[in-house]
Amino acid sequence: MKGFLADHSKGKEIRGGAFSTVKEVKEKIKEVGEEMVIDSTLGVLFDEERKMATFASVWDGYDSLERHQKAGYAEAMIGNKDFLDAVDKWVFQGIEKEFYTSIIASAGGSGALSNTIWNYLDEGETLLIPEICWGAYSLMAQEFSLKVGKYMLFDEKNSFNLESFFEMAEEVMRKEGKVFAIINDPCHNPTGYTMSSREWEKLIEGVNKLSEQGPVVILNDIAYLDFSFKSLKEARGYMEVFNNISEKVLVVQTFSLSKSFTCYGLRVGAQIGISKNKGVLEEFRRANEFSCRAKWSNVSNGGMEVIPHIMNSRNIMKSYSEERDGFIKLVRERSEIFLAEAKTHDLPLYKYVEGFFVTIMVDKDIIDGIHEGLKARNIYTIKQSKGIRIALCSLPKRKVAGLAEKIKEVIDEKVMADKKLKCAV
Ligand code: PLP
Repeated sequence: MKGFLADHSKGKEIRGGAFSTVKEVKEKIKEVGEEMVIDSTLGVLFDEERKMATFASVWDGYDSLERHQKAGYAEAMIGNKDFLDAVDKWVFQGIEKEFYTSIIASAGGSGALSNTIWNYLDEGETLLIPEICWGAYSLMAQEFSLKVGKYMLFDEKNSFNLESFFEMAEEVMRKEGKVFAIINDPCHNPTGYTMSSREWEKLIEGVNKLSEQGPVVILNDIAYLDFSFKSLKEARGYMEVFNNISEKVLVVQTFSLSKSFTCYGLRVGAQIGISKNKGVLEEFRRANEFSCRAKWSNVSNGGMEVIPHIMNSRNIMKSYSEERDGFIKLVRERSEIFLAEAKTHDLPLYKYVEGFFVTIMVDKDIIDGIHEGLKARNIYTIKQSKGIRIALCSLPKRKVAGLAEKIKEVIDEKVMADKKLKCAV
């Protein structure tokens, strides 16, 4: 007999991840008090008093909107024109574009990812992702009945592993005649790695060559773009490389207002199609507009006011930059404390350049044990496939100080206990 669930939904369940740990952390805080708990789970910016950062330059503008602006539908399924133009200006500031763009408003960065993956891969095809990455990519692959291929993120010199990327991409091209790969850069979640412009150049050179055999879609997830430690313009410098993409390469950037403008709950983002071919972008617009209609219809009208509101006033733009710079300085200071202490205590980290997160290298078989061991000391982190993620964005400096040593102790205890167990066997 048929069950209620559709076959494709059977067995689906979200396990682990940041949101499921949040409940546990809250309970622990109730039990022992805020100061006793180290909560480094969520990729959300907090100040030194553990208050969520909400930029006045953003929220004063939102609060000044008329009721009908917040309550009303958007102008179009693909978003309001002012918003789409502002995203174009925002993302490509400082870039001399020699490519076309097509921009579609989405329900956060997640909506942008989900729409793009849905419209460019058929059931059974492969989504290429880094082996260390944000967990939702795999969930999306599962949602759309896709296979997942993983390329190694780092090579032995701790640079972007172009060899592994192309090995996987060529195999997928050989089997499926098309490649779709995610590159989460800059400020990669969970490692904090940012590729150099040279790495991007080599990537695009190789991708252009590969596209002689079939279409290549590069999804550049830029959710953390505005929390690069570089200036807004410098952080975007690598995008010049898109001037050199071949006609058989489509780049889709998935942009999110969540982190850039401290408005996670407004659920606004954008898909940015980048191509040398207008026809490819026309197709992009049609397919994705259809998906918007079929999934969320249109995104928050008030939320879309955020970027034009900031960009259209020099004073507000100045305040936004000051607020953002202040928090970037704070995250940088937190990272400096953690990195220095990790070095002192021999805690191995993946290559960190900038941004919200840092990840400790941990052997696959002991990750669960370490994660539990940390929880027993009231330290809440996020498990990765090959490490433990610390969200520096949410930890005050006083809690970052000493953390590397505590984690190292837990790792050493676990390694010792495992050795003893093996000897006893
Ligand atoms: N991409 C990455 C790597 C993320 O970590 C996140 C959020 O945590 C997103 C995209 C999507 O963000 P949102 O849907 O909140 O805009």
